[in-house]
Amino acid sequence: MKYSDMHYERIDVSKKRKFCDNWLINFKNAKNSNDQINLLKEAEDLNREYQTYESISSLNFSKNINDVNAIKEKEYYDSISSDMQEIFNSIDREINNSPFKKELQEKWGSTFLKSIEVDLKTFDPKIKNLLDEEIKLCNQYTQLTASAKIKFNDANYNLAGLGPFHSNSDRNIRKSSYEARFKWFEENSDHFDTIYDQLVKLRHKIAIELGYKNFIELGYNRMGRTDYGPKEVSNFRKQIVKYVVPLVKELEKKKKEILGLDKLYFYDGINFKNGDPTPKGTPEELVKIAQEMYHELSKETGEFFDIMVKEDLMDLVNRDGKRPGGFCTSFPKYDRPYIFSNFNGTDHDITVLTHEAGHAFQNYSSRKQPLLKYLWPTMESAEIHSMSMEFFTWPWMNGFFKEDTERFKYKHIVGSLSFLPYGACVDHFQHWVYENPRATPKERKDKWSLLESTYLPGRDYDNLEYPKSGGIWQGQLHIYQMPFYYIDYTLAQTCAFQFWSKSQTNQDNTWKDYIRLCEAGGSLPFTKLVELAKLNLPFKDGCLEEVVENIKEWLKDIDVKNL
Ligand code: ZN
Repeated sequence: MKYSDMHYERIDVSKKRKFCDNWLINFKNAKNSNDQINLLKEAEDLNREYQTYESISSLNFSKNINDVNAIKEKEYYDSISSDMQEIFNSIDREINNSPFKKELQEKWGSTFLKSIEVDLKTFDPKIKNLLDEEIKLCNQYTQLTASAKIKFNDANYNLAGLGPFHSNSDRNIRKSSYEARFKWFEENSDHFDTIYDQLVKLRHKIAIELGYKNFIELGYNRMGRTDYGPKEVSNFRKQIVKYVVPLVKELEKKKKEILGLDKLYFYDGINFKNGDPTPKGTPEELVKIAQEMYHELSKETGEFFDIMVKEDLMDLVNRDGKRPGGFCTSFPKYDRPYIFSNFNGTDHDITVLTHEAGHAFQNYSSRKQPLLKYLWPTMESAEIHSMSMEFFTWPWMNGFFKEDTERFKYKHIVGSLSFLPYGACVDHFQHWVYENPRATPKERKDKWSLLESTYLPGRDYDNLEYPKSGGIWQGQLHIYQMPFYYIDYTLAQTCAFQFWSKSQTNQDNTWKDYIRLCEAGGSLPFTKLVELAKLNLPFKDGCLEEVVENIKEWLKDIDVKNL
């Protein structure tokens, strides 16, 4: 079945409500655990259907944000989102009250019951209207960023389309393209400020309504984190400052040598004098190379990628009206994932492809998990699959990058490492924002600048006023739309680096660990999945230190002058 053949319809909320009312009575009156297990499967089917159609409506909108029909369908699913949440919330509440919890746990493990407990703490029918408002504000952000028409060199670009100029080998083009980008942000600055200010205040209000002190704990619960909290995360951030920031500083020094520059500015985001590595080939050719690569990597990935190609489950190339960014979504009714990205001719095209393919491969590998909740793990675990896939495919990068391969690898490692302090900065910032919900937009920008000096001490924006006054985070979608979803990338990256080092000495066994991790899906929480994959837990003292040592060791063998 191709994507276009998948059935789509609008779920009828009143019908589902009736189903739910009956279901609740039957579940409550069930005489034994078997009856409850069968009823649970019925509720699962309903949820699978809902998630599939919702995900199709959202994807079609992302494919063309100007398509009137797609807008209507997306709006419909947005409008019923809190109603559906209410339905599943009442189902979860009943499961949580089950006298047969022990038997349910024996059948499916404790993860789903724990995740229900946490989910229940994130919703109450009385906050439904506030949730509707939150979705609307998030959509405003999407509309705003996707609507960007930025004039540059006599042509108009959207934000993704402008991207390649930021890594042009000509410093003037790099700088002027950033000037164009930030001019657009400046022009829309009030709008960006207002959306975020409203979101922060709204989320604080939701948290208070639900009985929290502020949004932070609710934010963690929304992320489904059951086995760690802000304390562990704060300790992890400290380790980034201690071990990673100094190495990043050293690498920046090295970069000056490579580029032959006395001073590094923010817009010197390239890594090599003649520009960054670029993939060699048309999008169609690159997909062909990826298909061969996945066949050689393993039987499982070969099968998986064939399906993605044959069933039209990828939309990869940037075009007008397409929502920026890359993501992977899924249609649980059909056991299929989908990859969305915006190829624009940079090396990022390949990392996005392998990254999203990692997500998609995990979701596909977990399809035999018995519960919907187990198809995806929580995000810090999900990003392990994607970021590790970026590394597992290293032996095939030559096919994409040809003479640029070594440069790509160097950039990949340096970029992934340098990302850790940025990710920690975004996370620290959000903790501050939600601890201080009454802060003004100006105070938020000042705080961002201050945090930058700890996490990103080497950054110099030259005379680019917008980022200089602390506004750069407004281009970071997660901060608006997915609060506290960011440290996940850094936790996962720390795990992916471990897979990377291990795969260099023992590819076969490391790959087996990875497959086991993918098949487990979301059946375990983060700390347990890390254990299952035979990796060290990032929170544990010494873990990041060892990762950094391994990277230093690898860097020693690289002669930057020959890159
Ligand atoms: Zn990802």
